[in-house]
Amino acid sequence: MPDLNARQCQSETTTQQLPSFYSPQTETTSTPHNDDDVEPADLSSSANGPAPASPTSNTSSSNPDAELPLRLPTTPLAQPPPTSLLSPAFTPPATPGTGTPLPSEPRGIPVDSSVPTGGCGSKRPRLLESLPEVECAVRARIPTTSGAEMFLHLYTNNVDNKEHLAIVFGRQIRSRSLDAPREGETELDRLVRGAYTGRLYPGREESGLAGPQIDDGNTSTQEGVNEQKEETTPLVRIHSECYTGETVWSARCDCGEQLDEAARLMSLSSNKAGGIIVYLRQEGRGIGLGEKLKAYNLQDLGNDTVEANLLLRHPADARSYGLATAILLDLGQKEIRLLTNNPEKIRAVEGPHREIIVKERVAMVPLSWKGRGGFRAPEVEGYLKTKIEKMGHMLDMGGL
Ligand SMILES: [Zn+2]
Repeated sequence: MPDLNARQCQSETTTQQLPSFYSPQTETTSTPHNDDDVEPADLSSSANGPAPASPTSNTSSSNPDAELPLRLPTTPLAQPPPTSLLSPAFTPPATPGTGTPLPSEPRGIPVDSSVPTGGCGSKRPRLLESLPEVECAVRARIPTTSGAEMFLHLYTNNVDNKEHLAIVFGRQIRSRSLDAPREGETELDRLVRGAYTGRLYPGREESGLAGPQIDDGNTSTQEGVNEQKEETTPLVRIHSECYTGETVWSARCDCGEQLDEAARLMSLSSNKAGGIIVYLRQEGRGIGLGEKLKAYNLQDLGNDTVEANLLLRHPADARSYGLATAILLDLGQKEIRLLTNNPEKIRAVEGPHREIIVKERVAMVPLSWKGRGGFRAPEVEGYLKTKIEKMGHMLDMGGL
């Protein structure tokens, strides 16, 4: 049977790509007995035999035409899936770095918010007089699909009950509030909440943070000092949660791509300074997912993103960045390079008393403009156009 040969060939190809710990099941898929291919659900329906028709008993094994769909699950590679089931052509946000094959160094523009010509826009953001209090509750090592490794830090704070996050590339960046001893805790407690140096391994009992001086586990003290000297200013991105753009492949905005690209730049081997993505849970420029979806409908009715928010009686941008400033301070940062196209974000991130200083702004040009993948859609181009024309973003419009 040519069909079976093709299937055997496919399963051999598949087996070669599987990891060594995987036990392939080639025999079950290449057996000549068709009955073995029948799923348990089908056995029960054929046992019913001539029972009255129901949605499942329509596919009785006595009907050769009806067997085809039942066999499909055991032959996933026999034919390509219909195009309607294929993922969109752009890289899903869950795979940081994989959609951007060409290595390229981020290029920063020096900025100085203390002078009018410092490249930080003209508006002064309204900032709260004092920064919120934040505490890193837990962190964990996350190996990513791009091969880079990062530490995910989860924060609590005194202004909302959301779990804001810091995605940290580079082991030298540590949270002060995480490392601080907590009353009554054991070494195991510290290990479990991520307050340890170096790496965890089976059987480890000490956090390595007993003394006042934090030693970075795997490197000697001297190496650590040298790293500190060589270190340039870390890359930072303040990223606001975007469920639609990051999780459900929306092409209305470029949030997913920007998150990927930020992670890629921070995990480049040439970037010794590390990087931090402060991930704020302020969906839809702070208006929440429900209101954001209404705004999308208003956009489909002909309004741009700013007009849609105003029609819903929301400010064009309801986000605030005090939490980001506080988180960056907790992570020991004083000077940063900020990945943003929005010069007016600089003062907002620096805090009410310039607690953080942005030394450079690093632009994030859409990948499709640079001919490096990414995606194009009329919605995202309209969105970027509005950001540039109405929201002070600095991007070259030549590509549109
Ligand atoms: Zn978005």
